Amino acid sequence: MRLEGSRGNMPQQTGLMPLLGLALLVGFSHANIFGTNNKKSDDQCFCKLNGVIDDCSCTIDTVDYFNNMKIYPRLQSLLVRDYFRFYKVNLKRECPFWSDDSKCAIRFCHVKTCQDEDIPIGLKGGLPRDLHTNESPSHKYQAKAQASDCNHKLDCDHNLELGYLNTSISSENYKEFERWQQYDDAQDNFCVTETDNGEYVDLLLNPERYTGYKGPSAHRIWRSIYMENCFRPENSPHNFIRSSKIDDMCLEKRVFYRVISGLHTSINIHLCSKYLLSSQNRLEVSPDGQWGPNLDELQRRFSSETTDGEGPNWLKNLYFLYMLELRALAKVAPYLQREEYYTGNEVEDADTRLAINDILKIVRTFPEHFNESVMFNGGVKAQMLKEEFKQHFRNISRIMDCVGCEKCKLWGKLQVQGLGTALKILFSGRFDKYEETVINFNRRQFFLDRSEIVSLINGFGRLSESIFELESFRKLMK
Ligand SMILES: Cc1cc2nc3c(=O)[nH]c(=O)nc-3n(C[C@H](O)[C@H](O)[C@H](O)COP(=O)(O)OP(=O)(O)OC[C@H]3O[C@@H](n4cnc5c(N)ncnc54)[C@H](O)[C@@H]3O)c2cc1C
Repeated sequence: MRLEGSRGNMPQQTGLMPLLGLALLVGFSHANIFGTNNKKSDDQCFCKLNGVIDDCSCTIDTVDYFNNMKIYPRLQSLLVRDYFRFYKVNLKRECPFWSDDSKCAIRFCHVKTCQDEDIPIGLKGGLPRDLHTNESPSHKYQAKAQASDCNHKLDCDHNLELGYLNTSISSENYKEFERWQQYDDAQDNFCVTETDNGEYVDLLLNPERYTGYKGPSAHRIWRSIYMENCFRPENSPHNFIRSSKIDDMCLEKRVFYRVISGLHTSINIHLCSKYLLSSQNRLEVSPDGQWGPNLDELQRRFSSETTDGEGPNWLKNLYFLYMLELRALAKVAPYLQREEYYTGNEVEDADTRLAINDILKIVRTFPEHFNESVMFNGGVKAQMLKEEFKQHFRNISRIMDCVGCEKCKLWGKLQVQGLGTALKILFSGRFDKYEETVINFNRRQFFLDRSEIVSLINGFGRLSESIFELESFRKLMK
């Protein structure tokens, strides 16, 4: 497999002074959502006080060290495994909001989908099997499975006369139950559930990098996300939200803005670190293109001087999002540790289980985890806000179908789904009790599907790589 991101052929660097400001990214505001369990009622948005208390010891340095030394190298070896490298996605769904007129600017933005023979056999069979029963989770809704449960009861303690139950349920009913179950599960989702067929994509063959997607089409996506689907501070006339106004919003709304901005930052860092360095003429010589870091591009996008002071805040939002997803991983760890990672290749699957367990162990050692329990407390209003939060996020997941560049759409959809999965883990309430009852929990009660797990881990991998790449840029500046 080819590794992306050659460090050769750096473009001419200019204007390093603003970059020093960028590199000295300090003053990451310490918020009580990181680790400390401050449950004062004034943390809630519908109350007068909306601030968080600067009493957390989690700093950029701590995250840099933890990520770059411990998480990033492990993720690099995990994400090349079959279970995680194949992602099923529908890139052909129509944009539900406007007619999509944009085209890929360069040929490198096309996605190569997999041929049937490229896909591991275990992935073609649908859902992974349940570790304890060796069954697919969907098995439990099938008529045969229900019937065998009844037979078991009859053998043991069934009184034929008094306890007669008509267990003859039609196959239509079972289909209906399955639909109810899907409906119930979907209520917890922060992304729209894609029921239509997608195609498998090998993520390693389609790396996220510079594609040349920009101009009105790209701006329309970001604008509609920030203008129409983010919570906005009052009296905020700018298209894009000003960081100075963020504190006028409640914690939950700030969190929403920060995770979207962090995602935007991550995408833009990737296109800077895997920039197309070869000129048009050289492309003819090198059909695969030549990719590497472009410090000027990073400076244009994130230095204080070129972004009216916003850039460093956008970078901090990347760290914020990283912390949120890290916490989701820690919370879901007991569940993921029991997943089978089934691809049909026993050796590969066993190695994948070892690798993921190793990462999850490290994740859980992080001392200052994001504290989601301070969010959405406070009765009916809080629940309404949570519902609004979910609806906003679902809309953003729909907007991804409007992205006019295939590769951007692929990675946009994956990262939004990964983030949606993290939000589901943190806020659906379904995983809250699992943490306390690690030993006893029943995996059948709730499961993430393969696509959610793949997007969660790959999405986190994107953030981890962004933080790692920032460190590489800092080194380049020296
Ligand atoms: C879902 C999606 C995926 C994409 N994937 C790729 C890709 O893989 N490769 C590629 O080359 N291009 C990709 N793009 C395009 C890329 O993100 C930019 O839109 C494009 O490079 C144009 O950049 P720009 O400088 O005009 O500002 P944009 O990044 O388009 O930003 C628009 C405006 O948003 C504000 N803004 C910028 N960054 C932030 C932030 N972090 N937080 C808050 N506000 C911000 C600024 O006011 C800026 O002017 C993607 C776009 C989208 C919508």
